[in-house]
Amino acid sequence: MNITFVSYEVAPFAKVGGLGDVVGTLPKFLQKKVDSISVIMPFHKIVEKNIEKYNLPLEKIDENLYPFSHSLKYPFSVFKSVLPETNVPVYLIKNENLFSTEDVYEYPHPEHQTSYFCDASLSLIKNLLPDVDIIHVNDWQTSLIPVYLRNNYRDDEILNKKATVLTIHNLGYQGIFSPDTLNVAGLPGYLYNIDALEFFGQINFLKGGILFSDVINTVSKTYAEEIQTEEYGYKLDGVLKIRNEDLYGILNGIDYDSFNPQTDKLIPHNFSISNLDNKIKNKLALQEQLNLPKKENVPVISFIGRIVEQKGIDLISEIIDYLTLLDIQIVILGTGDKKYEELLIKYQNKYPDKLSINIKFDLELAQLIYAGSDMFMMPSKYEPCGLGQMYSMRYGTIPIVRYTGGLADTVKEFSCENNKGTGFGFYEYSSSNLLISILKALNIYFRNNDCWKNLIKNAMSSDFSWDKSADEYLHLYKKAINKKNC
Ligand code: ADP
Repeated sequence: MNITFVSYEVAPFAKVGGLGDVVGTLPKFLQKKVDSISVIMPFHKIVEKNIEKYNLPLEKIDENLYPFSHSLKYPFSVFKSVLPETNVPVYLIKNENLFSTEDVYEYPHPEHQTSYFCDASLSLIKNLLPDVDIIHVNDWQTSLIPVYLRNNYRDDEILNKKATVLTIHNLGYQGIFSPDTLNVAGLPGYLYNIDALEFFGQINFLKGGILFSDVINTVSKTYAEEIQTEEYGYKLDGVLKIRNEDLYGILNGIDYDSFNPQTDKLIPHNFSISNLDNKIKNKLALQEQLNLPKKENVPVISFIGRIVEQKGIDLISEIIDYLTLLDIQIVILGTGDKKYEELLIKYQNKYPDKLSINIKFDLELAQLIYAGSDMFMMPSKYEPCGLGQMYSMRYGTIPIVRYTGGLADTVKEFSCENNKGTGFGFYEYSSSNLLISILKALNIYFRNNDCWKNLIKNAMSSDFSWDKSADEYLHLYKKAINKKNC
């Protein structure tokens, strides 16, 4: 079986969120289970910096290739690198006109950039990877690939044999544009149709991916159920229900080699279940780095992620005033909605000894926060899978979550009575529920040290490695091939 992933983000070449982590890691675990695997991504501006930073190889392998259908007739070059610590080739599509902005998602016409990338990827596959069996596309940015295949390349002897898998990492982002985008993309006008890409007078790239892929999956079982409801379906619940038989949920994993508190080079003090004293040294290092009072018995509660309402930042903001009355410290790292960034900075100026607000993207600091905090908040409004809660558990930091999507599938409510469970959480989206869960955690932290240590041990021994999920992906690929052939 030959597989190629197509994605806008691939860590460490370009990572903005969980998508980058997943596509940067999953191929490593599939490598030993399939005949060949590769990755295709745009040569974003940031890629060059990261190739240098991580000392990765880079060679130009082709130039003057063209997309087949797209109306933007720019040529593209193909560069080749490799996923760190693997033999998995990464093919980078380069065109200075289209992939030259600092930010991966900042572009005046994302519909032109993404549709060009989709068609160019198919040109790359036909020219350089003709034996690929499965094209695994990710999110709306690559959702036009199955649309081109089923509509433009039905008679192409190489491309018409490819099966497609679409992974939805976040249904909240769909790629909705004006209908004339079909012309620019070189797609047939008949796709402006309620049974195809039409969506409330616009066209919707993700809808195209859902309707034209052989199989679809999302990144947790609970989220796969939730997105078929009106509450979580972002107006695509009806379309997802149509594809219900081909819709699966496979939980993301995390890379246990890179995210290992015993060997992690990004944290000052390595630790393990049997040496938790060193975890406290990381807390002191974190407090020192962030100019918080160095107090080992004061619990540090953290948040890392996009500062947007999806992540429950509105709930956190609502209770910050109250939280500062407690003997705790709060650390926040993230970027996002200006309104919340400014509000959080205001709070930091008001309570400098209690709060550390870090508005930036900083992987090193993130690692120290995972290792040095006591608790980690993720009160998401919705959460397809979520990685932060898994990283924090791996580092003995207790998650406090809203039980939705992948958070519901990975965090189990802790009880001192039977010492079972890995964290704390609530169901109904409200700041008072978040506060109650935090107070529950603090109560055990302050009053029952043995119980808290058991909780840390439970969290650290949870298994979120990729191996199990990689096997589930193999089944999914077989289903896609069967579906394609029937
Ligand atoms: P999403 O993909 O919805 O943004 P996830 O929890 O699935 O959320 O993944 C987010 C990933 O990005 C995690 O690995 C998290 O540690 C990382 N991350 C998010 N914001 C930052 C930041 N400001 N600095 C460093 N890492 C970040």
